Amino acid sequence: MASTAREIFDIAIVGGGLVGSSLACALEKSGLSTVLIESADSPRAPSGFDQRKLALAKRSVDTLMALGVLPMLQTAATPITRIHVSREGDFGRVLLAADAFGQPFFGAVVLAQDLGHALALRVADLANCRRICPATVTAVHAQEHGIALDLNSSEGQRQLEARLVVGADGTDSLIRKASGIGVQISDYQQTLFVCTLIAEKASDGCAFERFSDQGPVALLPMAQGGFGAICCVDSSQAMVVANMDDVAYARYFQQRFGWRAGKIRSVGKRTHYPLRRQLADRISAPNTLLMGNAAQTIHPIGAQGFNLGLRDAMGLVELLDAPIDFSGLAGRYANRRAEDRERTLAFSDGMARLTRNEGLPSHVLRSVALTAVGAMPGLASGWVTGAMGYRGNSTFSQVAP
Ligand SMILES: Cc1cc2nc3c(=O)[nH]c(=O)nc-3n(C[C@H](O)[C@H](O)[C@H](O)COP(=O)(O)OP(=O)(O)OC[C@H]3O[C@@H](n4cnc5c(N)ncnc54)[C@H](O)[C@@H]3O)c2cc1C
Repeated sequence: MASTAREIFDIAIVGGGLVGSSLACALEKSGLSTVLIESADSPRAPSGFDQRKLALAKRSVDTLMALGVLPMLQTAATPITRIHVSREGDFGRVLLAADAFGQPFFGAVVLAQDLGHALALRVADLANCRRICPATVTAVHAQEHGIALDLNSSEGQRQLEARLVVGADGTDSLIRKASGIGVQISDYQQTLFVCTLIAEKASDGCAFERFSDQGPVALLPMAQGGFGAICCVDSSQAMVVANMDDVAYARYFQQRFGWRAGKIRSVGKRTHYPLRRQLADRISAPNTLLMGNAAQTIHPIGAQGFNLGLRDAMGLVELLDAPIDFSGLAGRYANRRAEDRERTLAFSDGMARLTRNEGLPSHVLRSVALTAVGAMPGLASGWVTGAMGYRGNSTFSQVAP
């Protein structure tokens, strides 16, 4: 790293959320000089480090373990050993067990805040990464061999340069806008409520997903027998649900989810998120690339957002094995990510629409679809491939029964 009035780095990562921080950890081995710029008040305070429960695909669990992040968690990740999918009012259901696929688990559940803090601890240890936080990138200037960034930090205005800029700066990405990349937005007209929940039956590794015309309801297994509860509500009803007290919400959730976990005994603090899909028209520009929510913000139903963002990060790192030609790197990254991105977006959007009245013509067809996925090894394998994070990857055959 040159130490001049204007510092020059190989790679500047804008955004120290879950994806940007993971990328910083993954780049360490490359020996490249990196800078991670995050606008939150502290490295432990980005807005994505909140109470949402993240279902990590097995591939993500393995990646985060290899990066030394999972050992830093305060509460160990809870393995998902079974997946149960059903639909309100329909006869179809899918019950998948990891051991039937020769796997110990499909994935694992962590609290986003806990994962964020583990990443912040890991980033603080990196030798090749300089973290600047709090600091906000306010402008981007194309240079002959890279990009210059204007930063606003507690030390005032400053500028730095990088040969490659990674926009990991979330849904409203400044890097995306400054690169002239447009977005396609669709509003699902749904709001997602998230809380922890204690039920009569303790969680035992089974993740439940239940579809209804209002959207999905899910229970994710968590530590000490608790559940992470996720409930999708039509946005026209969101304020009514937000204003329910805990007893009323427990009753509401029970009615939406049913009795597979027995009586719901208590619910924790609720947070809610309006659901919109926002897709960048492309994910690269000269010396610039996008990843994570900056590239694609998707419906959480398929639990794909962070998993896909982590694969974006690893996709870039894989390109650095060969001698690095920075001039074509962003374009090669976009090509490399195209298939996985396209298939994951189609899967996630398809799941979101399957939960409503769109996509399939009748309840009967949806029931048949669910039953078929459960009964046919080939279809179930395809489903499991996505759940474990191996979509579009040749290692899929390792998880097929
Ligand atoms: C309720 C819910 C449940 C979910 N469940 C799952 C799940 O089970 N599995 C899964 O894989 N995914 C899940 N997701 C999706 C997942 O949370 C996101 O995909 C992931 O957090 C995106 O991380 P990110 O780092 O790309 O973006 P962000 O978290 O948005 O981070 C962007 C960062 O950039 C910073 N920033 C922005 N602009 C600037 C700037 N100009 N200068 C400096 N810094 C800047 C911001 O402060 C922020 O910290 C869920 C999402 C929700 C809402």
